Amino acid sequence: MQICQCFIIMSYTIESIVEKTGARRLGNKPATIDWLLTDSRSLCFPEETLFFAIPTKRNNGARYIPDLYERGVRNFVVTSEDFKGLTMDSEQLKVTMAQECNFLIVPNTLKALQKLSEQHRGSFQIPVIGITGSNGKTIVKEWLHQLLSPDRVIVRSPRSYNSQIGVPLSVWQMNEESELGIFEAGISEMGEMRPLQNMIKPTIGILTNIGGAHQENFFSLQEKCMEKLSLFKDCDVVIYNGDNEMISNCVGKSMLTAREIAWSMKDIERPLYISRVEKREDHTVISYRYLEMDNTFCIPFIDDASIENSLNCLAACLYLMVPADQITERMARLEPVAMRLEVKDGKNNCILINDSYNSDLASLDIALDFLYRRSQSKGLKRTLILSDILETGQSTTTLYRKVAQLVHSRGIEKIIGVGAEISSCASKFDIEKYFFPDTKALLASDVIKKLKNEIILIKGSRNFSFDLVSEELELKVHETILEVNLGAMVANLNHYRSMLKPETKMVCMVKASAYGAGSYEIAKTLQEHHADYLAVAVADEGSDLRKAGITASIIIMDPELTAFKTMFDYKLEPEVYNFHLLDALIKAAEKEGITNFPIHVKLDTGMHRLGFEEKDIPQLIRRLKNQNAVIPRSVFSHFVGSDSPQFDAFTRQQIERYEHMSTELQEAFPHKILRHICNTAGIERFPGAQFDMVRLGIGLYGISPIDNSVINNVSTLKTTILQIRDVAEEDTVGYSRKGHLVRPSRIAAIPIGYADGLNRHLGCGHGYCLVNGKKAPYVGNICMDVCMIDVTDIDCREGDQAVIFGDELPITVLSDTLDTIPYEVLTGISTRVKRVYYQD
Ligand SMILES: *Cc1c(COP(=O)(O)O)cnc(C)c1O
Repeated sequence: MQICQCFIIMSYTIESIVEKTGARRLGNKPATIDWLLTDSRSLCFPEETLFFAIPTKRNNGARYIPDLYERGVRNFVVTSEDFKGLTMDSEQLKVTMAQECNFLIVPNTLKALQKLSEQHRGSFQIPVIGITGSNGKTIVKEWLHQLLSPDRVIVRSPRSYNSQIGVPLSVWQMNEESELGIFEAGISEMGEMRPLQNMIKPTIGILTNIGGAHQENFFSLQEKCMEKLSLFKDCDVVIYNGDNEMISNCVGKSMLTAREIAWSMKDIERPLYISRVEKREDHTVISYRYLEMDNTFCIPFIDDASIENSLNCLAACLYLMVPADQITERMARLEPVAMRLEVKDGKNNCILINDSYNSDLASLDIALDFLYRRSQSKGLKRTLILSDILETGQSTTTLYRKVAQLVHSRGIEKIIGVGAEISSCASKFDIEKYFFPDTKALLASDVIKKLKNEIILIKGSRNFSFDLVSEELELKVHETILEVNLGAMVANLNHYRSMLKPETKMVCMVKASAYGAGSYEIAKTLQEHHADYLAVAVADEGSDLRKAGITASIIIMDPELTAFKTMFDYKLEPEVYNFHLLDALIKAAEKEGITNFPIHVKLDTGMHRLGFEEKDIPQLIRRLKNQNAVIPRSVFSHFVGSDSPQFDAFTRQQIERYEHMSTELQEAFPHKILRHICNTAGIERFPGAQFDMVRLGIGLYGISPIDNSVINNVSTLKTTILQIRDVAEEDTVGYSRKGHLVRPSRIAAIPIGYADGLNRHLGCGHGYCLVNGKKAPYVGNICMDVCMIDVTDIDCREGDQAVIFGDELPITVLSDTLDTIPYEVLTGISTRVKRVYYQD
């Protein structure tokens, strides 16, 4: 999850913050704080910002203080060690900083942030709903907002800000106008709920469900459930699924004093009895009995998760005494919750960022921040298309003054406003601007046709139908796309990081277009998450990344002799595996007058592919010592079979050889040479072989090389049905009459073939795709651009989606069928398949 953004709050004086956090203050500059910042990249209003230097496993926010100071920030929360570190070299600096800044010294900066948030929460007496559970938290929160906001001013977590940092920032948004709070709490290990409980202090608790997500740090599901329930310690009421035995047992054991509204489809004795759930074509009819009264409502969804989410919402509405007829009316209008920012290619070299999430200031800020980060060095103009923001509790002028400030601070160059309110505040924006009374007027205008070379954030409130705007601007492509979930990739990165010692560095492998996922967006995201190195195969992949603005260190695994100049120009650090390459490289560098260009020395410890051997080391040392054009930055080797116990003895032998050879090299040089040997499987299976760095590949893309299990699925390959026809039993389908039928069949054609990377061996019933969640086998030979699938037993129409692989159909099912490895299937998806990125 992307956390740590900039948050608007009620104004506090620095004195009152000192008092609330119990901090020791150095400096006495008067200040008023409107914004909290934990991620330096999100800075927008330096003067009114208070920066919390929060340490993470591998980084410390304090590192960014000098940069923030340069950019005008003057208020910082730090530990005394942080402060010592900052002023270590200069007594003078200490004096200057104390004159110009306020440093609030605390023992623990995260705790200080949380304490502040607790105190802030303590000054409000309003009801607060706290939501926890494994899935559905954000949807339940957003639906409750949809159901309850007509009658009250609600403050809620933006997106899924539910972590140790996300919660304090969310709670911080409470102000005098707030009448109800709705906050999510997410945990991934024992003991994390307590601080969240202290900040949220819910009066109404909802447990959505308990599943396997984030299970790795818990002993059992039950333990996780008990930890989650501790959020409800002081609640007046707790809402949960009474049919879930484990949850019911845990609630029984947890000795909560709260009233319980357990809902049940089986037990009429439960406080909320669900007497009927009837799925129709596109909606579900639900009847319930509560306090002796029977009522019915519909929701415009038919999946089980939506039904469960709606029942949790129902219980909360009933408890808050929303009249039954209003519940019925509002349930029928529930809107799906799109929780992601979509990045798509638009016409005329535009990039579209589609934020179909609700529109409010906090989520506008997040989206603008996202846009700003994407725009850097792409040379595209930054444009915002924004509708009226339907946020209660602020006057139009105040609201749009804040919008204008945000727009200005995030470097937006053009605004297109849609709606009466934003139009009435046109004068507040002093950039290129256009205003329209409604979406129709915008679509009819020239302004939309003239968008060109721009990166455009499209953000509209629901009733403005901005999907029409993005549809108009989207580049229409081949209907087959590879969807890449950047959030899942980050989760995988963190999953593997959690297996490393904090000081172990990481190379992220983005070779072969990031295993097929597309290098730029992946590299960009990895860079944002502080990957130490990126590695690509050839120099051109590296220079493309540089041209697109990637500044992280890049290793070239396969440096061609013809590409040295490119490598020097773009500071791409080559792997060097033999003397021929080394000599040529040194010569080329000397010719350019380059010194100390970093190289990565590869050793052969058993793969017998590329690399120096043991007997080469003394000569290698001599050759390197004899010049100063290049310098060994790292020394590494590669495992042959670290994924399989069958080769463990060999792997250990490789480690031993590597240890020996790399030590010999290191001892010949005074500077530190980074050592690394582990790939993904090595990280998991040989934690003792981390050395200084590891190289993460396939795991980043969601696949565990050990058992082919999927960690967090990143890529989904999907397409749409072009045509459906009935074919008689005696007929055949496709080339060479290979598609034989055993009954009269419905056959669908989809626009994906072997030229897109759909392996021909999946044809003739060997493989299948999913249509509306059901298996549709490939019928007959797969063609170059199209193939046919059997949908006889599937309720589907032309235009429906077919998933080739994805969340429900793991790519490993395909690679197993094809008797190959997932790497090959992933990297085989051809470049003509459009990559579409999104972020949860
Ligand atoms: C591709 C590659 C990796 C990553 O391997 P995974 O199995 O995908 O983790 C590591 N090191 C080298 C040298 C590679 O070429």
